[in-house]
Amino acid sequence: MSIDEQVSSYYNMLLKRNAGEPEFHQAVAEVLASLKIVLEKDPHYADYGLIQRLCEPERQLIFRVPWIDDNGVVQVNRGFRVQFNSALGPYKGGLRFHPSVNLGIIKFLGFEQIFKNSLTGLPIGGGKGGSDFDPKGKSELEVMRFCQSFMTELHNHIGEYKDVPAGDIGVGGREVGFLFGQYRRLAGQHESGVLTGKGLAWGGSLVRTEATGYGCVYLTQEMMRAHGADMSGAKVIVSGSGNVAIYAAQKAQELGATVIGVSDSSGWVHTPNGVDVELLRDIKENRRERINCYAEEADGATFHADGTIWSLEADVALPCATQNELNGDHARTLADNGVRFVAEGANMPSTPEAIEVFREKGIHFAPGKAANAGGVATSALEMQQNASRDSWSFEYTDQRLHKIMSKIFRTMSRTAEEYGREGDYVTGANIAGFKKTADAMLAQGVI
Ligand code: NDP
Repeated sequence: MSIDEQVSSYYNMLLKRNAGEPEFHQAVAEVLASLKIVLEKDPHYADYGLIQRLCEPERQLIFRVPWIDDNGVVQVNRGFRVQFNSALGPYKGGLRFHPSVNLGIIKFLGFEQIFKNSLTGLPIGGGKGGSDFDPKGKSELEVMRFCQSFMTELHNHIGEYKDVPAGDIGVGGREVGFLFGQYRRLAGQHESGVLTGKGLAWGGSLVRTEATGYGCVYLTQEMMRAHGADMSGAKVIVSGSGNVAIYAAQKAQELGATVIGVSDSSGWVHTPNGVDVELLRDIKENRRERINCYAEEADGATFHADGTIWSLEADVALPCATQNELNGDHARTLADNGVRFVAEGANMPSTPEAIEVFREKGIHFAPGKAANAGGVATSALEMQQNASRDSWSFEYTDQRLHKIMSKIFRTMSRTAEEYGREGDYVTGANIAGFKKTADAMLAQGVI
């Protein structure tokens, strides 16, 4: 069988065994496309069912999460934790609370996490979890009761050396606090290494809140410099206005860029004079309001419920909201409007067609598994601090993050070159992330 036929047969089998999970299919298809050139050069990576094992989670948990709302009515949500691969270390990956969550979404995120975590160079495996619970519009006490019920089931399956969850969409500091409190109560001990993204007074790390957004901009800056450009003076579009978007916008502006647009699921705001990050944070993190409030309160900003943020003229685009938010038409518009660099703060925000357009139009593109790895990398630094009962300064932790992001850029860049695909960061990131995990899996036998 040729390598092409071999890879197609793995993929067809995966489609059959994981029907109705399009996001998972999409994530696997992209990685398998990159792996063809690895298998041509080093066929031993197909030995011992390695590729099939890599695409099959080690364990998938699905559980009932009953809780009582403020009216005394019982609500039932579904909880997930997919422990995908622990060859490099304990499962590590966030929890997402959003009504769109289903098993396929958690599997796509868990699969991506394997390669992302491997790229950080730190000893962490890949996992992901969450629930179809929607924190929007819920009272503080409802969110707390939900988190307590969710953790009552999950606590049996996680631990410092086993599986270490963190935040993601809908799970920020508040939710991590409620989850940690319930874990501590059930475990009967203060095991700080069991979750990351904790509050600073009880085992959290400085920079973890900022890490994904900052890391995305550090990597983008490296990519821009490699192609003779710089963040300073650039016009940048940032989609979303959550944790990743806010700190990506802050760091980009600190480096001299102007962030000309931000968004949420209700629309987008044009901010030609830049974003007032403190105001945005207050509206989104404290007041938990919609993005139109930002336009009402900030000078020169306009809200648009229609159209797309990707229609703005810019140099750089940082999609930081959610999967498949940027399609082929958006990518063509970005190219026509002068965008030369795209880096994914979110997980898989660009559709396969959009990525194809970036290639055709010569747009330099950094995939999420590299560009947003700063969050999980800093989570691993939080784990290091917990293990040594230490807490590092903001400057030191930020320096470590910066170094990790620079190294990820060099690794994916060098790997792409090694395989004859200079500048193709998708291929470089997939292959580099794969090889480290695959070598560990081969060394550890068929398990
Ligand atoms: P938040 O919940 O803090 O923010 C998410 C933002 O995206 C909000 O502005 C939200 O708008 C918007 N959004 C969510 N779903 C949709 C949708 N269907 N359509 C349009 N906008 C949407 O999440 P994060 O910032 O933590 O996560 C954003 C992305 O980054 C996700 O893909 C996540 O997996 C990824 N990521 C996050 C990391 C982290 O450390 N937090 C680490 C690595 C990746 P609204 O409020 O209207 O829903």
